[in-house]
Amino acid sequence: MTNLLEVKDLKKHFPIKKGAIIPKQVGAVKAVDGVSFAVKKGETLGLVGESGCGKSTTGRTILRLLEPTEGNIFFNGEEITRYKGEKLRKLRKQMQMIFQDPYASLNPRMTVEQIISEPLRSFNVPSKQRRQKVDELLEVVGLSSYHKRRYPHEFSGGQRQRIGIARALALEPELVICDEPVSALDVSIQAQVVNLMEDLQKEYNLTYIFIAHDLSVVHHISDRVAVMYLGEIVEIGEADELYHNPKHPYTQALLSAVPEADPHLEKERIILEGDLPSPSSPPSGCKFHTRCPLAEDICREKRPQLNQLTNSDEHQVACHLVKEVVETGVN
Ligand code: SF4
Ligand code: MG
Repeated sequence: MTNLLEVKDLKKHFPIKKGAIIPKQVGAVKAVDGVSFAVKKGETLGLVGESGCGKSTTGRTILRLLEPTEGNIFFNGEEITRYKGEKLRKLRKQMQMIFQDPYASLNPRMTVEQIISEPLRSFNVPSKQRRQKVDELLEVVGLSSYHKRRYPHEFSGGQRQRIGIARALALEPELVICDEPVSALDVSIQAQVVNLMEDLQKEYNLTYIFIAHDLSVVHHISDRVAVMYLGEIVEIGEADELYHNPKHPYTQALLSAVPEADPHLEKERIILEGDLPSPSSPPSGCKFHTRCPLAEDICREKRPQLNQLTNSDEHQVACHLVKEVVETGVN
C-alpha cells in the first residue's frame, strides 16, 4: 500500500506573548513537538492520548487549518506544507474533517440541504447536481431526502453526526480526519456511527485519521494506532499488536485502564502519578519521566527516539528501557 499522507518532524508551537503595548514573545506552547508518521491509502490510523496531548492540533495542522511551525507534510507524494491560495483551496477538497460536537459544527440557521451543499457551492457545482448529491449523501449516511428541509436542532446527536459526515464527504475527499467523532454521543449510538464510518470507508476507499481518547473505539476501527504524549508520538504500531503487547510505560498505563471484555482476565491497573505537565515547559529528556514508574537518570537527560522493534516492521517505541529495538541513530 502506498502512503497517502506523510508527516515529518511536524511542529506546531503557539507563541505566548506578554506586554500590552508592544507584545513580546516570552515562550511557546509546544502543542505538537516533532511528530513523524505515514498513513497508507485506505487505512485508518488511530491517534490516542490524554486531552491536551496535541492530537487535535496535529489533525488541524495536517489539514492546514493551522500553519505548521516546522516540519513537512506530504500528500500523495507532494509537499503541501506551505501551500497557499488556490492550491490550498483545491487541496481542501481532498482532505476533510469530522468534528467532535456535531451540533456546534453545524450552522443552526441553515437547513440540512444548505449545510451539505455548502462545500459544493464553494466549488461552483451547479445547483441540479448539488441537489442530486445531497439526496445521495443523505441516503448513504442513513437519513432520507425527506430530512433536507429541516434544521440541525430537529435531529438527535447521532443524526447530527450523520449530517456532519455527509457534509465531509460532499467533495469526495481522500483523507478524512475524524476528531473525536463519537465522543459526544451515547454509547449505544457510538457503535452505529462507527459502523457507518467503516462502511463508508469501504465504499469510497477513504483514508481516516481517527482521533479519540476512548481506546476501545480506536482499537475497533484502527489498522494502526499512534499514542501521543505532550506533543510527541511515544509508540505506534499495528492495532492488535499495540493493544496486546504495549511497550511504552505510558501506553501500558493507558491500556491498563481499559476494562477487559472477559472479567476472568484480571489485569493490574497502573495509576499514573501527577498531572500532565504544561506543554509550554515540558520536562527535560523523556517528557514522560515525571510520571513514569520506571524512570531512571538517563530518562531525565536524554530524549528517547522512536525506534523500531526488532521483531516487527510496524511497531515503534520511544523509551530508553525498551531494548529490543533497531537503533536508527537518528535524532
Ligand atoms: Fe519511562 Fe524512561 Fe522510558 Fe521515558 S524513557 S518512558 S521515563 S523508562
Ligand atoms: Mg482534542
